[in-house]
Amino acid sequence: MSEGPVPLDAAWLRAHPLPVHGDVDKNERGRVLLVGGSARVPGGVRLTAEAAFQSGAGKVQLAVPDMLAIPLGVLLPEAGMFALPTDEAGEIAGTGPVEELLDHCDCLGIGPAMGSADVAGRILDAILPRANACSVILDAAAVAAGHDRLPLLRRMAGRLILTPHAGEMAALTGEDRDVVTKDRARILVQLAQDLGAVVILKGPTTMLAGPGGDTALYGGGGAGLATGGSGDVLTGIIAGLSARGLGNWEAACWGVWLHGEAGRRLSERHGPMGFLARQLPAEIPSLMRGF
Ligand code: AMP
Ligand code: MG
Repeated sequence: MSEGPVPLDAAWLRAHPLPVHGDVDKNERGRVLLVGGSARVPGGVRLTAEAAFQSGAGKVQLAVPDMLAIPLGVLLPEAGMFALPTDEAGEIAGTGPVEELLDHCDCLGIGPAMGSADVAGRILDAILPRANACSVILDAAAVAAGHDRLPLLRRMAGRLILTPHAGEMAALTGEDRDVVTKDRARILVQLAQDLGAVVILKGPTTMLAGPGGDTALYGGGGAGLATGGSGDVLTGIIAGLSARGLGNWEAACWGVWLHGEAGRRLSERHGPMGFLARQLPAEIPSLMRGF
């Protein structure tokens, strides 16, 4: 256990190097499977997938609402697409194809660009009990859906990463949002230990806690990162790094740093506000090259 939050800086990164892959094929370099998207946010999961690729994952597959599979596949020709059945509201209504893919992914991400915690909850119920070998990252509605499923999340101990912002943290824990903000270290550390998970509480300063009591802080990046799709990119970076074989704690810390530094670079180049979340992933390869 660390004595206090570790600052995520160059010294930390050098002490926790990225995996070196050598001469491996794309499956060996890390397979990411993403379940997400909705009629209301049809393109968000594309950001997650691009971020996973640009973080070095060899293969990225997306399971999305059926009407999105072809357009997303055309926009993102590098990815594999699986069409999930939808209800009349355009929300995911079944996960059949995903279950067959679970044995062939290294990191499973659930939740990006999904708006409904009810829908996300049904997906968690169907998929998590069968996701026995991969690391699992939950974002957005899939985090909020965890509130009614803490025993299910505990069964994933050692393999789970959660990426809530303060509102999603409040939904997950049942705490008031103000309490989450004022007493965030205590709530975060308690949750990470209870679930045996890495939990990333996002915000202008992001705090991370691991199952063993480790904590870390990152306060860079700049306010331009508070923009639609930014969190979807973070999820993809962490998923890509985890699939490449980085441990969950290291993948989370590296992911927060890469996401923030990508924002800082874009701010320097274009100005502090107004860059798009979709510009973040292209910064990642050269940021990683520095280490
Ligand atoms: P989300 O709310 O899921 O889209 O995630 C937003 C992302 O942007 C998270 O990684 C936050 O840590 C980051 N972020 C939000 N606001 C700020 C800010 N004012 N300064 C730096 N990073 C921020
Ligand atoms: Mg988000």
